[in-house]
Amino acid sequence: MTVTEPLSPTAGHVIFTEEHEALRASIRSFVDREIVPYVAEWEQHTFPDSVVRRMGELGLLGLSVPEEYGGQGGDYFTNLVLAEEIARGGSGGFLMGLSVHTDMVMPPILRFGTEAQKRRWVVPGVAGEQMYALGITEPDAGSDVAGIRTRAVRQDGGWLVNGSKTYITNGHRNSMIVLVTKTDPDAGYHGFTLFLVPMDTPGVLREQKLRKMGMHASDTALLSFADVWVDDSAVLGTVGKGFEHIMWELQAERLIGAAGCLAYSQYAFDKTLRYAKDRHTFGRPLGQHQAIRHKFADMATKLTAARALIYQTARCYARGDYPVREISMSKLYATQVAWEVADQCVQIHGGAGYMDEYDVSRVLRDIRLYRIGAGADEIMLDVIGKSFGF
Ligand SMILES: Cc1cc2nc3c(=O)[nH]c(=O)nc-3n(C[C@H](O)[C@H](O)[C@H](O)COP(=O)(O)OP(=O)(O)OC[C@H]3O[C@@H](n4cnc5c(N)ncnc54)[C@H](O)[C@@H]3O)c2cc1C
Repeated sequence: MTVTEPLSPTAGHVIFTEEHEALRASIRSFVDREIVPYVAEWEQHTFPDSVVRRMGELGLLGLSVPEEYGGQGGDYFTNLVLAEEIARGGSGGFLMGLSVHTDMVMPPILRFGTEAQKRRWVVPGVAGEQMYALGITEPDAGSDVAGIRTRAVRQDGGWLVNGSKTYITNGHRNSMIVLVTKTDPDAGYHGFTLFLVPMDTPGVLREQKLRKMGMHASDTALLSFADVWVDDSAVLGTVGKGFEHIMWELQAERLIGAAGCLAYSQYAFDKTLRYAKDRHTFGRPLGQHQAIRHKFADMATKLTAARALIYQTARCYARGDYPVREISMSKLYATQVAWEVADQCVQIHGGAGYMDEYDVSRVLRDIRLYRIGAGADEIMLDVIGKSFGF
């Protein structure tokens, strides 16, 4: 099995230079060798830490991280290339676990962290020696981030943390979690603080491995924090500015999620295209029936439109803008298109599409998450709507 053809529609886009395309080619060969053969196995047991260490050795975990912290010092587009190529490997769960580590945890440490925190966490994170998680969601608060209950209270010169977090990706393999807490419940949006909590701190408990509909290659945890004491060196950013910090983080999470998810549905499209050329019904290849041909036309048009929106938004983001409305549009539209494409790919495969052997069923169940996680469709619509002054 190979993922090398047909030619990726991303190749040659104006945001990508020759260096980006060389990077794409080298990641693609890594993916063909070290991900594609193991996708089915990872669905059973989740991906092994060894693949993350290997990516660290190859310099793939810190493509846009400054060289002084072990990274490659590349631009934002290198992250897009990584997400797209990992997606083409066909393991949504691996893509998600990796993205949490590279695009959701390390960027806020680099932006808000102290020099000591960058050395302690980013350097081994980039090397693939450690893997991290992000803890926002709680049993009683997901979309409504401001409704979280995890508390951090000043005590003995440090902070005492109590609470729980759920649906935490990498929560069974991580050595540290970026934890969103409330430090002053009376201060509204100014009462939140982020902490970098090592998972071996007394009181941190990995309560449950959660079973789920898709993303089986990733591990998802319910975590609890009972009288977990950390000193001031664990505070990430400014005390009281945690809400602002996490909203900044969520923009990058949504944009990379949109790009990865769309590329994952492109993977399903590519596979389905091959299938529709090989499979014959009523005396001709499936794709030569007009109804099926039109499905491809429709899917390709929507994939192209969604990709254009993502790349345009990524361009603004990469030059330092903070395009919340466009990021929300990208997340909303790309994940809806990806879901629609994955569904059509299963349909075009017929019964085969329902079988694990043909991969598209995995894409469908994995992709459903993207319309829920990191800000569901309804929340994205609300952010976009409010941006017009409502
Ligand atoms: C596999 C998986 C991995 C995840 N990984 C992580 C992780 O690593 N870290 C982390 O912190 N979280 C993680 N999440 C959590 C995810 O981000 C949340 O599930 C998501 O934000 C939605 O929150 P919720 O589940 O509490 O839904 P709720 O907030 O209870 O919402 C339920 C539904 O109601 C809708 N809704 C809510 N409020 C409104 C409103 N005001 N108007 C209209 N509709 C509304 C929502 O859009 C949604 O459709 C993960 C989730 C899953 C399933």
